[in-house]
Amino acid sequence: MLDLTPNECVEREALRINPCKTCQPVGAVYAALGVHRCMPYSHGSQGCISYHRTVLSRHFKEPAPAVSSSFTEGASVFGGGSNLKTGVKNVFEIYKPDIIAIHTTCLSETIGDDIRSIIQDIEVPDGKYLVHANTPSYVGSHVYGYYNMMCGFINYLSESTGVPNGKVAIFPGWMNPGDLVEIKRLADICGLKYIMFPDQSGVMDAPLLGTYEMYPEGGTRISEIKDLGNCRCVLALGEMISAEPCFALERKCKVPHKMIPYPIGVENTDEFVMQTVKLSGIGNVPVCLENERGQLIDMMIDSHQHYSQKKVAIYGDPDTVLGVMSFVLELGMTPKYVITGTFGERFDHEAARILEVYGVKDCKVKSNADLFELHQWIKNESVDLLIGTTYGKQIAKAENIPLVRVGFPVLDRYVHSYMPIVGYRGCIRLLEMITNVFLDERDRECEDKDLEIVL
Ligand code: SF4
Repeated sequence: MLDLTPNECVEREALRINPCKTCQPVGAVYAALGVHRCMPYSHGSQGCISYHRTVLSRHFKEPAPAVSSSFTEGASVFGGGSNLKTGVKNVFEIYKPDIIAIHTTCLSETIGDDIRSIIQDIEVPDGKYLVHANTPSYVGSHVYGYYNMMCGFINYLSESTGVPNGKVAIFPGWMNPGDLVEIKRLADICGLKYIMFPDQSGVMDAPLLGTYEMYPEGGTRISEIKDLGNCRCVLALGEMISAEPCFALERKCKVPHKMIPYPIGVENTDEFVMQTVKLSGIGNVPVCLENERGQLIDMMIDSHQHYSQKKVAIYGDPDTVLGVMSFVLELGMTPKYVITGTFGERFDHEAARILEVYGVKDCKVKSNADLFELHQWIKNESVDLLIGTTYGKQIAKAENIPLVRVGFPVLDRYVHSYMPIVGYRGCIRLLEMITNVFLDERDRECEDKDLEIVL
């Protein structure tokens, strides 16, 4: 397993091996699936959208409906305008969405199709909508695609009517449905009136009721996206993923924003709860949340001897990685390697700031990195635990290091997308996973005479 990975690290500029990211349109499709009765539309070949749908379906264990311009040789040479016009007409007729969210691919970007001008010639049925985002996949990652598509919705739909709606817009960033449900639960407990955009809960965790619904009940309504322009402010989670949509809404509708980290970890969740309490005006943190926080702290104290001082490598999407890093530091663990495949100087700066707070000096942080490089670092100096996506599985096996699966994509496990890692309850789940992986390892590795029933 990965026997040919050399120990000697060489600085690479033009080559990624075992990337720690996927392509922009994957993010654009996921963002679009968070809008009610929206059909994601890929302006490119069928091969691209097959891949995008596959990775989403394998992570969520749910169908991810999306359509394509179905480029063939002709479109690749002469441009895909004609395919797009026919495709959009067919999709409205056949699949009857309320809105189609078009994103580009490497191919249509390289040809240079001007989507905005092409769709001006398309007759959109009454009461239906078209939006688009440019998502060239040779730059950025699925994180870029996600926020570019959010900006697409905002730029086309959001408007300020001059009549405030008294609500707060929550931009949750890229989260699993289980996390989104938890964010909404916390906001509801704090009495906040809000519009969450996008919201894949109820879509990518839709129940099995006996008949297939192409458009389940979940998702942000089109009317709500329009109404974002009348919100009091945006509470944006994830400073890397939510910045651009915040700027887009501010530019278009003058809605101010407050960006905070993903509420992963005690301090980050505290910040989310305090902001929510402040914005809702209820005055005090509800007792039930104080109790949840107290339970988390109690469990951290009970279990700390099993993970304290352990060295950990964390990889994945920038905001998730920063949140997990914060939490493992709160647990008394030592982040040794922290990488994301998404480019972003803010990631490096924010990671450095968090490490400085905890006085950790010996930690390698890198954005725009890949898992091959992480493996090389580990071969030179190992860690006790990996936390990240399924793509670190081979490293875990090759180096005999336990892996806690967190982030996107997790392709080889079930149920995870229903279980939050945000909020106090999410921390409790993360804590359970981290602690138990060490206890499992101890049971597995110890001699028979040392096998304890109580740990
Ligand atoms: S060709 Fe580009 S858009 Fe298509 S799947 Fe590959 S990276 Fe993604």
